[in-house]
Amino acid sequence: MSNTVEWSLEMSEVGARRTTRGPRCSVRIVASGLAAVLAWGGVGCGGPEQESAPRQEGAGIGQTAQAESSTCTQGDDVRYLDDSAVPAALKNNIYYGSPGPIISRYRTDGTLNPNYPSGKVVVIPFETPDLPRNPAVTKTRIYDTFFATGQLTGITVAQYFLENSWGSFLVTSGGISDWVSLSKNISAYTGFEGDAALPRDVLRYANINWASLDTNGDHIITPAEAQLVFLVSNGYSAATRGFKDYGVNPAANLSMLSNVLTPGGTYSFKPKVVYFGTKTAADPTYNTNPFRYEPAIAHELGHAFFNLVDRYLSNGPGGVGSYDIMSYSESWRHMNIHDKLKIGWIRPKVLQSHLGRCVAFPASESTRAALILVSPLSTSPQDEYWIIENRNRPSSGCNGCMLFTPPNGVFDPGIPESGMAVWWVKTGAYFNGHDDVRLVDANDPERDPNGTTPITGLDPGFINQGAGALFREDTVDPTKVLMDSNGSWSLLYFRYASNPGSPVYAEL
Ligand SMILES: [Zn+2]
Repeated sequence: MSNTVEWSLEMSEVGARRTTRGPRCSVRIVASGLAAVLAWGGVGCGGPEQESAPRQEGAGIGQTAQAESSTCTQGDDVRYLDDSAVPAALKNNIYYGSPGPIISRYRTDGTLNPNYPSGKVVVIPFETPDLPRNPAVTKTRIYDTFFATGQLTGITVAQYFLENSWGSFLVTSGGISDWVSLSKNISAYTGFEGDAALPRDVLRYANINWASLDTNGDHIITPAEAQLVFLVSNGYSAATRGFKDYGVNPAANLSMLSNVLTPGGTYSFKPKVVYFGTKTAADPTYNTNPFRYEPAIAHELGHAFFNLVDRYLSNGPGGVGSYDIMSYSESWRHMNIHDKLKIGWIRPKVLQSHLGRCVAFPASESTRAALILVSPLSTSPQDEYWIIENRNRPSSGCNGCMLFTPPNGVFDPGIPESGMAVWWVKTGAYFNGHDDVRLVDANDPERDPNGTTPITGLDPGFINQGAGALFREDTVDPTKVLMDSNGSWSLLYFRYASNPGSPVYAEL
């Protein structure tokens, strides 16, 4: 989001991470009028010889039985497709093998990761003489914003993560402190977010039962044991910071604030801290929505829980467009399906060739449903792949958490539209070893997904996607081919997508 203060990353790192590969294959793609003519000249390509190019559409519509229907109207549920022909090693590599810096539920061998977060969040509001407390930020208000579940009149952060994880990740209270009143002004600290002295003073006075969170009794609070959220009534802040002055360990992406004398004993702290600014005490509307942007709390906790990366750029929401909480957090929207996959909340079926029949995608807001496509040409299949899901705003019903579900749903009203979302993924090709994730833009889908320059360059590939980016019925040009990062046809395509709803259908 366009926070005044946000986690910043070095843009210059992007370019160095793009890799180039030589020509692999003599697939030629020639644009011809409205229809794409795909010529398969597969000498030396190594792909399955029986792979057939999509039939040319366009002039012949209405003249053959198949062309009478250019939209799928039924099909098998993608959750139950038979993908036994795809090697288990390939699937496991996508599911577990390469999370990058993301903190996953699983280790790379598929066993449970002991560093996966417990979901416990400690909230500590603090004030200084120059930033007095917003009196509307009470323990009850904090609980009702962060942790409440069940059928409620308002949205909570806990409900957001419950829906995004299909019920498998519960955010609970690790303790809500009384207001901590520091004697010094904010300006007396050498820094604000990430400064070591400020969190040390806050943690020194917060009345949190750290012993109850310290599951192994080592007096070190780890990110798996609890996340830390500091609330300050400055009216603008939303940031996630490590204790940068205390020996960052890049390998673990951790830093530690050591030996803090808390009311309950001496503890050291490893989690990052989310600094979140509520409205100021002087704001005339201090009591109306005091947390300002509640989706931004979920965004920051995406960093804190799972080490998700910011996906926005300086010129817009970046490669995932406005379809990801990590790219745009001023209104509610889901996390992108890649991040849900890498955290370990979904294991979609994997296809490596064209099935040649219509399939059904239930809405991913309410159903754990998606499909992964890997090119039959790929020699390193986990390196580059696609994920398809159905984003349908009304299907975000929060499992009945609201007394009245709004027409555009609860946790996806911020996306520009509903429809079939096709995501391209390249492992490790984004900032700091994260995967490059791009939403294939249905406005102009048959392009090199990551362009020919870094994402901040002149030919960045798919970025800043908004309305029109999701696939829907296209009777003029119903066949869509998927291009890889070399600008070559991946031999994957789909066609006959249906209009938004739940489910949507397409021929895969
Ligand atoms: Zn962020």
